[in-house]
Amino acid sequence: MTSTNSPRIAIVTGGGNGIGRATARMLADAGYAVAVWDLAEQAAEEVVSAITAAGGVAIARKVDVSKPEDCAAAAAAVVERFGRIDVLINNAGVVRDGQLVKVKDGQVVGQMSAEQFQFVLDVCLKGVFNCTQAVVPTMIAQKYGRIVSTSSVVALYGNFGQTNYVAAKAGVIGMTRVWARELGRYGITANVVAPGFVATSMVESIPEKVLKSMIEHTPVGRAGQPDDIARAYLFLADEKSSFITGATLSVDGGSVLGT
Ligand code: ADP
Repeated sequence: MTSTNSPRIAIVTGGGNGIGRATARMLADAGYAVAVWDLAEQAAEEVVSAITAAGGVAIARKVDVSKPEDCAAAAAAVVERFGRIDVLINNAGVVRDGQLVKVKDGQVVGQMSAEQFQFVLDVCLKGVFNCTQAVVPTMIAQKYGRIVSTSSVVALYGNFGQTNYVAAKAGVIGMTRVWARELGRYGITANVVAPGFVATSMVESIPEKVLKSMIEHTPVGRAGQPDDIARAYLFLADEKSSFITGATLSVDGGSVLGT
């Protein structure tokens, strides 16, 4: 364990935008030193500049989470700079929607391509595996770690046009349950946050009518904000959340309850 006056060290993947950016900022405000990993290098650097300007400690790195060698090198750089890794927030994600088969006038006119399926699996599922595998040896050595990974409520109830994304996000829940069993004895917890509908760039392509209906089906009557999700990450990342592992926390304004 770190002494009380040395900061906890957290990594946020996909920390350059949306939920990841909000989480990186909130962690820094709470006193963590934050490594912002993102494929979008400039976005990561902007987040680090904002944190540094506010008096926090952060470093940026271009990382493609789908590449194990990128994740391993980035984890080594965090250890070299800070000496430990306390928290991993697996947040990087992509969508490439498409129906399993697209039917028009009774005819099959298209389908989700194998590449489309694989791309989302590589980032959203294998990326979580890669980053976790890269940090866990350090966490085992220090007998402390918090792994929090992002699923989605769609993993629980499915979603039209998202075979790839739902497969990846359901897989994150499954992997986390395995890691909770395998790593608990080393002081490492592994949990999942399952966001509902959150107002970020990922939902920009959703038609107005669909957005309206999504809000109508959310008991609290609004879309989520990145900070709503960041708060859940911070709760599960906390040292005191040591008896919570293998859990999936829906943060969705109640939408998963159905109507
Ligand atoms: P949301 O915040 O709703 O999850 P965003 O699209 O705003 O969605 O954020 C996802 C982040 O993940 C982006 O900053 C994006 O650059 C990052 N990202 C996407 N693919 C990768 C990848 N292969 N490796 C690292 N980061 C990635």
